[in-house]
Amino acid sequence: MNGAHTKLTDFSRSAFTAVCCDDVMTPDDGNLLVVEDELFLRKAVAASLRFLGFEVTAAENGADALRLARSRPFDLLILDVMLPDIDGFEIVRRLRGDGNQVPVIFLTAKDTQDDKVTGLTIGGDDYMTKPFELEELVARVRTVLRRSRPAAPEPALSFADLTLDQETYEVRRGGRLIELSPTEFRLLRYFMLNPGRVLTRAQLLSQVWGYDFGGSSTVVSTYVTYLRRKLASDGPNLIHTQRAVGFSLRLPRPGEEASPGEVTPPGQVGADKPESSANQTDQRRRPGRPGRKPGELR
Ligand code: CA
Repeated sequence: MNGAHTKLTDFSRSAFTAVCCDDVMTPDDGNLLVVEDELFLRKAVAASLRFLGFEVTAAENGADALRLARSRPFDLLILDVMLPDIDGFEIVRRLRGDGNQVPVIFLTAKDTQDDKVTGLTIGGDDYMTKPFELEELVARVRTVLRRSRPAAPEPALSFADLTLDQETYEVRRGGRLIELSPTEFRLLRYFMLNPGRVLTRAQLLSQVWGYDFGGSSTVVSTYVTYLRRKLASDGPNLIHTQRAVGFSLRLPRPGEEASPGEVTPPGQVGADKPESSANQTDQRRRPGRPGRKPGELR
């Protein structure tokens, strides 16, 4: 047995399970064409990719590969360069000549720079030199598929008359387009992903600002105030203060507040008044405890 076979055998015992089980929650999918004249390698590659969830068609020569690749769409070709009839580079030249832009990972025993350059200039997406680890091939397959597929669209979020489009970054209330800063957008997005839940200032800090402020939540109250102002409409306030805890995105409870009452005039603060007023002063005039740089909150 040569090096490739030894590695594949080792792989099937140990690493394979690791590759498989990392991805149990998100099985791989995609139609792959594996072209390899060496029986053991063809079977090992096809079997392991199938095990991970891919649809795999296998071919043992260039003529079959061309016929299959022309007969139906594949998401990716794993293509041996040295085949008994038409070599892998030639197969890709002909497919590209047809206008077929299917991604390709070349497999080859050659490892000279010239071959690598040839493979990539005629439209290969990656290149594996034998012997290789199946685990590495799987990683490259996933990478090429990720690159070649459009990202899955993020669903638009909605709550009451509020909508937030995660693709276009458009926020609307009652159809009216609302301009938000990036931080305001992230804050609103987090509220809309957790409607009805009281979110603590600490949660909002870590999820929206992404780091720990050492307990200071000034910035959260400030940005909630900005957000309430921008979202103000004829409808009720939707971001409610839970005293001493945090904030929640929800509809007002009966009798809680007159709509559209909680519209905050510029320079003042609504439901959050005592704390936010103090905090805004704190942020503007006393930029922080010892050791914190001015502007660090932003
Ligand atoms: Ca070969």
